[in-house]
Amino acid sequence: MIEVKNLVKDYGKHHAVKDISFSVPEGQIVGLLGPNGAGKSTTMNIITGYISATSGEVKIGGYDIFEEPLMAKKLIGYLPEIPPLYEDMTVEEYLNFVCDLKGIRKKEEKNSSIQEVTEAVKISDIRGRLIKNLSKGYRQRVGLAQALIGNPPLLILDEPTVGLDPNQIIEIRSLIKSLGKKHTIILSSHILSEVNAVCDYVLIIDKGSLVAEDTPENLSEHFSKNDRISMSVKGEKEAVEEVLRASSHIKEYRITGEKEGIVDVEAQTPSGKDVRDDLFFEFAEQKLPIIKMERENLSLEDVFLKLTGQDAQTVESEAEKATEKIEKQRHFHFRKKKKEKGEEE
Ligand code: ATP
Repeated sequence: MIEVKNLVKDYGKHHAVKDISFSVPEGQIVGLLGPNGAGKSTTMNIITGYISATSGEVKIGGYDIFEEPLMAKKLIGYLPEIPPLYEDMTVEEYLNFVCDLKGIRKKEEKNSSIQEVTEAVKISDIRGRLIKNLSKGYRQRVGLAQALIGNPPLLILDEPTVGLDPNQIIEIRSLIKSLGKKHTIILSSHILSEVNAVCDYVLIIDKGSLVAEDTPENLSEHFSKNDRISMSVKGEKEAVEEVLRASSHIKEYRITGEKEGIVDVEAQTPSGKDVRDDLFFEFAEQKLPIIKMERENLSLEDVFLKLTGQDAQTVESEAEKATEKIEKQRHFHFRKKKKEKGEEE
């Protein structure tokens, strides 16, 4: 459904997207995961034809987004990071307007389209409400509804749960999952648990580059192909290394420190097997006491940390700050509009 080849986007000297290639097969929910500024929105904006690329190729359902933009865009429903909602319209008026924009002009067609999308995102009962009076969760549903108008096979959702409270997040995630039964979806997120919960496949992007891609399960497994053990052993380095080399439970090892007769070791052990007991006896046999031993198995969080150098919590708190900024911009935008209309001092 999406083919991206050698995509590059430069803003002056800044390389926002650096030679990214990936494909999204039909029927999948794919997550574009990365910290702030990784290049997620830029990539999505190019895929949707909203901005141009410096170089590279994007095909949507076989149509080149740069050369056949109308045909390609017909296949896409897009929910940008800030949903393009007109606050002074009712939901119904707004969706009517979106139908006009998407070339759905016949009254019956409009009506059935609006009915379909409002049912799909469960907002049938609030069609007459003004958008400005809706909660954020409902606004996001209206944003999804506008993306669904025209029944495009591909949905592109930029940070669809950003700024929502935990209940709204759960609702929108389950909505996305159910939309995934009928649509191919690519969504961006900085939240690992979200991608884990919703997506079939993950593209991890960092500083404009694609650093890994696979199913969430395979990513965790691939990066933890070998379980890791860290330990501290009391004894001579040579003696410790002799046991490590002879042990069938150690695939690779690294001496990470040696101080006051204690040798620190990081070792890779066969996947899925807890070998701590065996190692204990092997070292004990040589009268080398293990004074500390820990087994590590990488989670998707660790994978993310390894790849991007940022831990998930930092990424989330930075993203929260970015959300606040977006909210302020939105507030400023609507105050300005009201001022222009003379509704405020
Ligand atoms: P976020 O979640 O913060 O939006 P992101 O992964 O979506 O992060 P992008 O918005 O794609 O990141 O930004 C990628 C990089 O490109 C950032 O360093 C950003 O500052 C830069 N950038 C984005 N838009 C522009 C622009 N119009 N002009 C200059 N630089 C830009």
